[in-house]
Parts: sequence; C-alpha cells; structure tokens
Amino acid sequence: VARDRFRLGEMTSASDAFAAGDPALFVDSRQRRRLVVLEAGAQFHSHAGTIPHDDVIGGPPCSEHRSTQGARWMVARPTLEDFVLTMPRGAQVIYPKDLAAMCTLADVGPGMRVFETGVGSGALSIALLRLGADVTGYEIREDFATRAGRNVRLFLGGTADERYHVRLRDSYEGLEDGDFDRAMLDLPEPWRVIPHLATALRPGGVVCAYTPSITQAVSVRQSLASGWFDVRTIEVLHRGWHIEGQAVRPDHRMVAHTAFLTVARRSPITAR
Ligand code: SAH
Repeated sequence: VARDRFRLGEMTSASDAFAAGDPALFVDSRQRRRLVVLEAGAQFHSHAGTIPHDDVIGGPPCSEHRSTQGARWMVARPTLEDFVLTMPRGAQVIYPKDLAAMCTLADVGPGMRVFETGVGSGALSIALLRLGADVTGYEIREDFATRAGRNVRLFLGGTADERYHVRLRDSYEGLEDGDFDRAMLDLPEPWRVIPHLATALRPGGVVCAYTPSITQAVSVRQSLASGWFDVRTIEVLHRGWHIEGQAVRPDHRMVAHTAFLTVARRSPITAR
C-alpha cells in the first residue's frame, strides 16, 4: 500500500527508490517533459527510441537514462509544480503561482479543516493536502470528482485519501458540513457560496476566492461587505527571465493573466 508521501515526518520518501505505480517525470535535453506512471514491462516512447520502465523501477528517484537511439532523458520524481502542469485534467487547473499564493494568503496548515469547491482536476486539493490539511470538497461533476481523487492518490500516495472527502454537491445550495478553518472557492459564482460560509466557517477563518474576471471579483467583494474583515483582492504576476551568457532579459512570452484572488476573514458573530 502506497504511503502518504508528504505527511509530516514522512518526508524522506523523496529519496526513496522508484516503485511500479509511481509517477515519474521524464525531461529531455531541450526541457521537454512527460509524466509517466511506471508499470513493470512497459516502455517509455520518445522521438528517439524507448526506455524500459524496468530500468527506472527500483532505481534512485533521480537518474539519467539513454533511449535506444541515444537520447538522454533525466528521470525524476515530479515536483508538485511538474505534476499539476502535466497530470490528466478535465477542468482547467489553478497554476502553481496561484496555488502558492492562495495557500499562503489563506494560511493553510497541518490539521486545518478546509472547505474546497469545485474540486475540478484536484490541483488545489493536492496543494492543500500536501500542507497537511483535512479537505472537504464539493463538486457537481462526478467525472471531475473521480479524476481529482485519482490525481490525489497518484501524487500523494494512498493514505492522503483519509484526509480527502469529496461530495457530489452543488455548493450554491448550501453546506452540509461545517466547522471549517479555511474555505477555497474556484467556481463560476463564488458569491453564491460566501453567504453559506457565515455559519460553516469559524470566526477568524479565512476565505479565498479565485476568479478569472474582475467583474466576478467585484461580485465577491460585494458578498463580503458585512460579516468579514481584512478583505483584499490581488493578482500574482510571474515573469520568467532568459539568462544565457550576456543575454539577460525578461522572457518574450509570459502567462499574462490567470485570475484575481480575493481573501477575507470571518468576523465573530457579535451579540447585541
Ligand atoms: N480548483 C480546481 C479547478 C476547479 S474548475 C483545480 O485546481 O483543479 C471549477 C469546478 O467547479 C469544475 O469542476 C465545476 O464542475 C465545479 N463547479 C461549478 N459549479 C459548481 C457548484 N455549483 N458546486 C460545486 N462545484 C461546481
């Protein structure tokens, strides 16, 4: 049985040998990358020949291999960033730059009860679970819920499941669960979920809503007008640099926009 690789105290696993069923990232000399699930007897196929998975299974978590036609591939355990960018997906995933910011802004940590909706392909779920949170996700599409569960198990290993509870529910209709410390919203109309958090989120708890459009962010802000404090909306700009000898400049291309992040904390319910 695969273990929860990233649970606190079990961090040594990044140095464990590869086993069948593990995800492995293949990167060639031109930085082309492919995610593969290792399987005994299977072959990795590249533009220049093949590499047997059996050469990787049982070996170190990072090693260089040559394909049958001489191409060099580095094979390593995928990082969370590698995994969310290459994993199987249905819904659009949240980009790593936003995952990192959302987890920090919402102050997600070990043992926290986090509400997440919708779960989509599970990119945000993986980030939350890896930080040690206990995640309850509401998702309306069964195919996405299934995919998210599979991605979580593939990247985090079997026992991360014990902290991941996905329900097929429409979160606009209300929450059956409560006592949450944090709420992460990534669905078309997060302002329809925020009123339900008045009771489901503990006072002092943080909500973070991800919205591609600024008019969505404005609607989120309106729904946070009373009962919330420390309300902010930000976006994260991430620009790569080209550095090669004396040619040092920003990359010509960048992901210019993903989404706005709106964060707020739940006020205590004051008797008057
Ligand atoms: N954050 C996810 C992507 C979510 S995409 C990731 O990182 O992978 C948005 C998801 O919200 C979709 O899967 C969609 O099916 C779901 N969704 C849309 N409306 C919903 C609703 N009313 N209740 C629950 N889930 C909903």
